[in-house]
Amino acid sequence: MRISTVGIVGAGQMGSGIAHVFALAGYDVTITDIRQEALDAALDAIGHNLDRQVNKEKIAPKDKQAALSRIRTTTALADLGQTDLVIEAATEREEVKAAIFEQLVPHLAPHTILTSNTSSISITRLAARTDRPEKFMGFHFMNPVPVMQLVELIRGIATDDETFDALRQVVESLGKTAASAADYPAFIVNRILIPMINEAVYALYEGVGSVAAIDESMRLGANHPMGPLELADFIGLDTCLAIMNVLNEGLGDTKYRPCPLLVKYVEAGWLGRKTKRGFYDYRGDTPVPSR
Ligand code: NAD
Repeated sequence: MRISTVGIVGAGQMGSGIAHVFALAGYDVTITDIRQEALDAALDAIGHNLDRQVNKEKIAPKDKQAALSRIRTTTALADLGQTDLVIEAATEREEVKAAIFEQLVPHLAPHTILTSNTSSISITRLAARTDRPEKFMGFHFMNPVPVMQLVELIRGIATDDETFDALRQVVESLGKTAASAADYPAFIVNRILIPMINEAVYALYEGVGSVAAIDESMRLGANHPMGPLELADFIGLDTCLAIMNVLNEGLGDTKYRPCPLLVKYVEAGWLGRKTKRGFYDYRGDTPVPSR
């Protein structure tokens, strides 16, 4: 099946990045959010990130203009109903995502494929809340979307081959690489990555090292491009905590319990870069470690 129009729900860091790459690849994109300011900020971020690609000569100035002209925004979820492909990239809470799909279903065209960019929530369970579990998949982009090469494709128990093949072709058309993951909590990348971040927070909590020492140790000692706490701030501490909770509840092994310090930061509203405060303080010119 041919996909040319794409609807994106949630205009946060992932929704805006996904809109960016689809518009650049020639798709017509509609983004929706419950907050108009999130839509305005997404358009600003996309413009800024396209400028960076122009400055690095990865794209021509006319590509930037063409991409921006293909993106429209709306606060009405129903406006996405007639698109060929919907990508849900709203807040990582199952009740939020389930409510979005329930509200969207009455407005959908029969052929529309539904996907979720969830980092961890069961695709089979989300699909079961819609009228088309066979046309429902996990479509997991990595952050920052314009830079990261991988997209995880997650089939729910009912997903049909046509839907899987259509999404694999979409990934190719974006110039990215698809990895197929089974529908178990947090799939492949986050099943491994987020417990490592949680362990880094435990190391901080138990005083094994400071924020700077932990990040430097993993950069220089394990050759990671970013330390785990820096990376946690980048992902969003609320998202990290939500994924740990899904692993903990879904797999029932105590090794997945979220670190109390991670919980405390989220309770404080210190969610990382997006709130200018997390394991680092981003309010000045250079990030300052919090402990
Ligand atoms: P974010 O907090 O930056 O953005 C979420 C957006 O969803 C916000 O703008 C919010 O207003 C909007 N929203 C909330 N409820 C909504 C509703 N009912 N309808 C429409 N919009 C709604 O979060 P994010 O980091 O962009 O994450 C979004 C999704 O992508 C999550 O499922 C997350 O797990 C997943 N994800 C995140 C990362 C990451 O590194 N941050 C990576 C891969 C996948």
